Amino acid sequence: MNIIEDFIPKNRQNRPGVAITPSSITVHNTGNVRKGADATMHASYIKSTNDKVSWHYTVDDTNIIQHLPINEMGWHAGSRKGNETSIGIEICMHEDIDMAAAEKNAQQLIAYLMAKTSIGEIKKHQDWTGKYCPAVLLKEGRWEQFVRGCFSIFEEKKNIEKEHWAKTYYQQLIDRGMVIHEERLDDPITRGELFAILCRMLDL
Ligand SMILES: [Zn+2]
Repeated sequence: MNIIEDFIPKNRQNRPGVAITPSSITVHNTGNVRKGADATMHASYIKSTNDKVSWHYTVDDTNIIQHLPINEMGWHAGSRKGNETSIGIEICMHEDIDMAAAEKNAQQLIAYLMAKTSIGEIKKHQDWTGKYCPAVLLKEGRWEQFVRGCFSIFEEKKNIEKEHWAKTYYQQLIDRGMVIHEERLDDPITRGELFAILCRMLDL
């Protein structure tokens, strides 16, 4: 499973930068049936819109695109609590999509997120506001089946993808150009290593 990171720029109003600790994942269908309304199209929309709308991932039959870090709030649930506690995933539904493949991709993503975090709850957009969403899954009566599929993939993934709590900090340092040769997340640090890190932090 390959996730394409294409974040909304930080200065956009639909990326408020509010830190969240998500406890659920909320599933949507885009509601957009136009031909070509795939994940790539939604990624360019969400980066340029002035609407107060944003979510974390868009999934179609070939791509998974991430628009926001999972620890930042988006505006997708229609309720404050939903936005502040839930990761939003939009599944495309354009006329030329392979819907089964898109839903499979979404299930893979959800299982991956559950394995990576401690999130154990999958919600419909409808659970927050009553909106008829995810419309395709609801209309075709496949919501329960979809959720069961997520959990069974999760059962396969959970032991291999559970991330160490410190991994995110390690990755942040790498991203900022800090050279660290090994992760060894549970090994003790020596005084020498601490001195070296402090000097690097202070840019000495
Ligand atoms: Zn929705």
